[in-house]
Amino acid sequence: MAKGRVSFNTEHCKACELCVNFCPKNILMLDKTRINVLGYHPISVTEMEKCTGCALCAVMCPDMVIVVERA
Ligand code: SF4
Ligand code: SF4
Repeated sequence: MAKGRVSFNTEHCKACELCVNFCPKNILMLDKTRINVLGYHPISVTEMEKCTGCALCAVMCPDMVIVVERA
């Protein structure tokens, strides 16, 4: 299966959790230990090694926060 890497422009994240709900691997979650400049807990990835690079998260994000690279 294809492997992927996700990175985030966390300062633009509005914590809507669309990406969290659509990730087939359930590896995205809001980072409750951080607050971004918009005042939200920003998106983070829990188990990067499970990312397939499907890019569903990036497609769903209304704020272009997520960049997916396929390895
Ligand atoms: S690229 Fe796919 S598997 Fe990886 S975090 Fe995004 S939705 Fe999940
Ligand atoms: S879809 Fe975008 S704005 Fe919404 S939680 Fe995910 S990264 Fe943040």
